[in-house]
Amino acid sequence: MKGNDPSKLDRILADARRSAEKRDQGYRERALKIYPWICGRCAREFTRSNLRELTVHHRDHNHDNNPPDGSNWELLCLYCHDNEHQRQLEATGSDGQIAAGHGSATHSPFANLKSLLDGKKKPS
Ligand SMILES: [Zn+2]
Ligand SMILES: [Zn+2]
Repeated sequence: MKGNDPSKLDRILADARRSAEKRDQGYRERALKIYPWICGRCAREFTRSNLRELTVHHRDHNHDNNPPDGSNWELLCLYCHDNEHQRQLEATGSDGQIAAGHGSATHSPFANLKSLLDGKKKPS
């Protein structure tokens, strides 16, 4: 068991997760200081008791873009935040394309294999 430390990777992953969480909490706290605790879509008001249902949305969907003036942030309740991203998926159409891609991806390898086998059979 010496020399091989299986927990090393876990530790690295845990560290990465921790720093990501720290970064998330960093911009969340800053956004909550800048903006009133109100959902930008449904105008629902929040207090300390339900504040965890108020989330920080990134207008350009880039979580690494956190300007100090908060111009990339929008406070949304969980539901409106969900809707916001759903709308984005529908607008780009990537959701349907991915689903269709999965369907053909599971079929084409076998279709390919079959034609390859058929192709091999014919000359012999
Ligand atoms: Zn809302
Ligand atoms: Zn968002």
